[in-house]
Amino acid sequence: MMKFLLCSFFLLTGSALMAQSAEREKLQQLEQQREMEKARKVRMVLDSAIYLQEQEDYEAADTKFKFALANMKSVPSDLAYFFGKNSFYLGKYKQSVDWLTKYIQLKGTTGQHSAEAAEWLKKAESSLLAERQTESIKTQQILSRDYTIDCGPTGKVTCPVCNGSTVIIKKDYFGEKYKTCQYCKKLGYLSCEDYNKLLRGQLRPAQ
Ligand SMILES: [Zn+2]
Repeated sequence: MMKFLLCSFFLLTGSALMAQSAEREKLQQLEQQREMEKARKVRMVLDSAIYLQEQEDYEAADTKFKFALANMKSVPSDLAYFFGKNSFYLGKYKQSVDWLTKYIQLKGTTGQHSAEAAEWLKKAESSLLAERQTESIKTQQILSRDYTIDCGPTGKVTCPVCNGSTVIIKKDYFGEKYKTCQYCKKLGYLSCEDYNKLLRGQLRPAQ
């Protein structure tokens, strides 16, 4: 009799535990679905922002780009490009230079928008320079360092400090001096985590 009771006790707690873990799995699945649904909606907002940009409605596009920036876990490179370009149209040159530079750092010269990004960057840089010379009032601008940047499937980015060469050339009175880049540990590239730290000024050089 005792044996029977013990057995049924274990069976009961066993099935209760199983039910619990099934419940947990179900919740996880629901959470995942919710995340995917959210990501899909944000992607749609981003697509309509790009459409509005093509229609030259830069203010409306800006609102949607900002929504996408606020609701994406990490910023994809194409968003960096489109937001940088839109910022140029809005006269936010510092913001434009910042995001277009980011796109070029992420994609190099082989990205889908690399050529255009370089052109827009050139325009934004000279407009920024002109603006600084006239010291006109600058509006509050959104900069990439406040976001986590998605470095793509490789998870690494060419080191922007040494441009991948692993050495930094310093010119002084005596000529040129070569120093090992202290940011990428002689690799020429940074992990996505380090790259994001660098953008925030949080990546300490190795001694
Ligand atoms: Zn480096």
